[in-house]
Amino acid sequence: MNDCLFCKIAAGEIPATIVDRTETTVAFRDVAPVSPTHVLVVPTTHVANLDEALAVDPAIAADVITQCARVAEMEGLADGYRVVINTGSLAGQTVHHLHAHVLGGRAHHWPPG
Ligand code: AMP
Repeated sequence: MNDCLFCKIAAGEIPATIVDRTETTVAFRDVAPVSPTHVLVVPTTHVANLDEALAVDPAIAADVITQCARVAEMEGLADGYRVVINTGSLAGQTVHHLHAHVLGGRAHHWPPG
């Protein structure tokens, strides 16, 4: 998608600190981290959110989740980590390209607020 920030990061057109790449996903550090480890995992295919991914091809979502666990392992988050997928305005989604936040390195309480 021409005007999508995360498509441009995935394509290498906008700089980001890349953590890992697979055939179908890119993982990079969030520019405004809320935890010591804060990595975003995005699909290379443009889908706006989780609902759209599941409608287009559930494998897109499965690949993102699988990669979140791999990133957590790579980042040494053996004591625990949180995966967050904000979906829609009420959830606070601000970038409309599916992304999962991988958060770790501190205690994350529940409910999140
Ligand atoms: P969300 O609120 O779930 O849509 O999350 C969007 C996330 O993207 C926020 O945590 C932002 O800090 C992050 N973000 C925005 N622009 C960039 C960027 N250029 N590089 C890395 N992370 C970004």
